[in-house]
Amino acid sequence: MKCYDVIVIGAGIAGCSSAYFLKQKGLNVLVVDRAGVATAGGSSAAGAFVSPKIGKGSSLQRLTNEAFEFAKDFYSEYFPEHFKQTGVVRMPKDEEDAQKFFEYEQYNSSTHKWLEEKSLKEIGIKESQKSLFFDEAGVCDAPKMCKALLEDIDYIQYNVKSLNYENKMWYIGEYEAKKLILATGYENKFFDMRYMGIKGTWGTRGDYETKLNLEVSMHKKISISANIDGIVKIGATHAKEAHACLNCGVDPLKELFAKASDMVDTSDFRPKEIFCGMRSGSKDYFPLVGSVIDVPSMLEEHPKLVRGEKLKEEAKKMDNLYVINGLGGRGFVFAPLLGKMLAENIVEGKEVDSRVNPDRLFLKWCRKSLELER
Ligand SMILES: Cc1cc2nc3c(=O)[nH]c(=O)nc-3n(C[C@H](O)[C@H](O)[C@H](O)COP(=O)(O)OP(=O)(O)OC[C@H]3O[C@@H](n4cnc5c(N)ncnc54)[C@H](O)[C@@H]3O)c2cc1C
Repeated sequence: MKCYDVIVIGAGIAGCSSAYFLKQKGLNVLVVDRAGVATAGGSSAAGAFVSPKIGKGSSLQRLTNEAFEFAKDFYSEYFPEHFKQTGVVRMPKDEEDAQKFFEYEQYNSSTHKWLEEKSLKEIGIKESQKSLFFDEAGVCDAPKMCKALLEDIDYIQYNVKSLNYENKMWYIGEYEAKKLILATGYENKFFDMRYMGIKGTWGTRGDYETKLNLEVSMHKKISISANIDGIVKIGATHAKEAHACLNCGVDPLKELFAKASDMVDTSDFRPKEIFCGMRSGSKDYFPLVGSVIDVPSMLEEHPKLVRGEKLKEEAKKMDNLYVINGLGGRGFVFAPLLGKMLAENIVEGKEVDSRVNPDRLFLKWCRKSLELER
C-alpha cells in the first residue's frame, strides 16, 4: 500500500487546481483519472476562456468575477506560458441585448472599455454593435495548464470502480489516503449526492488552422479565440442534460462554424481537431466545494426532513470526503479560487464560503425532490 494525505479522483481543472494548492500547503497528494490529465472530461473540450461575467450584479456574477480576478492573476503569475492574455470582446447578441450592455456596465468591476464598430472591424470582427472589451481576460491551453498544475504531484491513470473506507483511511486499488476529493465532473456514482443536483451540458469545440490575423478573443453566442500559434479555437456548450455524444451528429461543428463565420473571416479556416465533452452544473448554478453530507444516515435519523423539519445541528458529513464540482461553463475561471478554498478548508480548517458550500442545497432537496419521488 502506498500512503498519501489526499487522493483526488479526476484530473480536470478542478482536481488539478485542488491538488496544486494542497501540495503548496505541504500535503502528499495522488491524482487519479481513468482517461488522462484533461483528456476526456469537460476540461479536454473546453476552449478555456477566462473572462468575467456580465449582468446586473447577481450574487453569481459577483462570485464569478471574484474568481476571475483571482484566476487571471494566478495564471499570469505562475503559468504565463499556458495563459495568453489576449483580451476578450463581449459582443451583444442583438439590438435588445445591446441595450442591456449599457445597464450591465455599472456592475462590471473588471477593467474594460467600449469598442465601437470601427475599432471592432480593425481587430477583425465583421459586424457588431458597440461591445465591451476586457483586456485582462484571456485563454488557457487546457491540457497544458492542467499538466503544469500537476508538476511534482503523483498521478496515475486508473478507473476507480469502487471506494473503501476503513479505519479512517480511503482505499483505491493499492493506494490509501486519509482524505478523498471527488473531482469527477458530471459523473457521481459513488455516493448519494442527489441533493447537489449535478447535471451535464454537452458541448463541442473545433480547432482550426488559419493565417487570419486575430489578436483578440471574443464571445457572442459562441466563443472564438485569438489566433495562437496558427490555431483559432471555436467552442460552445449547448445541449443541456444530453447523454454524451448523442447530440454530435455527423457534423458537430456545422452550426458553430456558421456562427463563427458571421463574426470573423473564416475563408481560410481548415479544421484540425474536434473535441466534445460534458461540463457539469449544480442545481442553483453555483459551484460545489466542501464536505459531502451522509444522506442515507441523515434520512434515517431525521425522517421528518422530507416534511420540512428544520435541523438544529449541522448535517452529518461523510468522514474525510470532499467534493469540488459544478463549475459550469467557467471551470477555468472558478478552479484556482475554489481549489485554494478547498485546500484551506482541508489543511487549516477554514470554513468554505457559504455561496459554494453544497450544504445550502440539502434541506430544500429533502423537501422538494424526495416528496416528488414518493
Ligand atoms: C465545449 C466546452 C467549452 C467550454 N469552454 C469553457 C471556457 O471557455 N471557459 C471555461 O472556464 N470553461 C469552459 N468550459 C467548462 C469547463 O470545461 C468545465 O467547467 C470544467 O472542465 C470542469 O472541470 P472538472 O475538473 O470539474 O471536470 P472534468 O474536466 O469533466 O474532469 C472530471 C474528470 O474526472 C474523471 N473521472 C470521472 N469519474 C472517474 C472515475 N470513476 N475514475 C477515474 N476518473 C474519473 C474524468 O475522466 C475526467 O477527466 C467548457 C466546457 C465545454 C464542454
